[in-house]
Amino acid sequence: MGPRIVLATRNAHKLEELHRILDAAGLDVDLVGATEFPDLPDIPETESTFAGNALLKAREIARLTGLPAVADDSGLCIDALNGMPGILSARWSGRHGDDAANLRLVLGQLDDVPDRRRGAAFHCAAAIALPDGTERVVEGTIDGAIIREPRGSGGFGYDPIFVPLGGDRTLAEIPAAEKDAISHRGRALEALAPVIADLLGS
Ligand code: IMP
Repeated sequence: MGPRIVLATRNAHKLEELHRILDAAGLDVDLVGATEFPDLPDIPETESTFAGNALLKAREIARLTGLPAVADDSGLCIDALNGMPGILSARWSGRHGDDAANLRLVLGQLDDVPDRRRGAAFHCAAAIALPDGTERVVEGTIDGAIIREPRGSGGFGYDPIFVPLGGDRTLAEIPAAEKDAISHRGRALEALAPVIADLLGS
């Protein structure tokens, strides 16, 4: 078994996704979730960029556990909203994690925006921090557009109103594996795999 890495999330879906991507990249690491460390606090995302927040979380978890830590931060950037909700995506409507309210607010804000100006992109930063202070961060993006009514029951967050560039289904209408292959998070984690291999020699 390779070196142990903590993923700074209690989200089982993210842990599974990272497992799959690291396995596919041929990395031999022992990946554990933050749930294995019940005393870990929630780290507030106080930075102004996705990369800053991902690094902040990875750094803090590496310090607290004494193990290499991986963290990510992501969100939806809408052209007509000058890049917002951005790092505020999870709490855009004022309540953290209220996906339905966040999505409704965005649709309302874009009500008068014509189709040609409804461009948007999901962004994800994925970071690794080692207890000795070494750290790296990479990013992944998926471009697309915001439609006018939610469609599909898969995914989460803003998926039902986001159609990737060149496609006609929302991210909530495509199978999870297909989303992982093209998503901002999938791409960021894929870019992180060789960085992890390089740093940990695994
Ligand atoms: P976090 O990176 O887990 O903090 O997620 C930030 C927020 O961005 C989520 O709560 C969602 O609102 C939004 N978001 C991030 N990634 C996705 C995605 O793949 N689909 C839909 N919404 C997303």
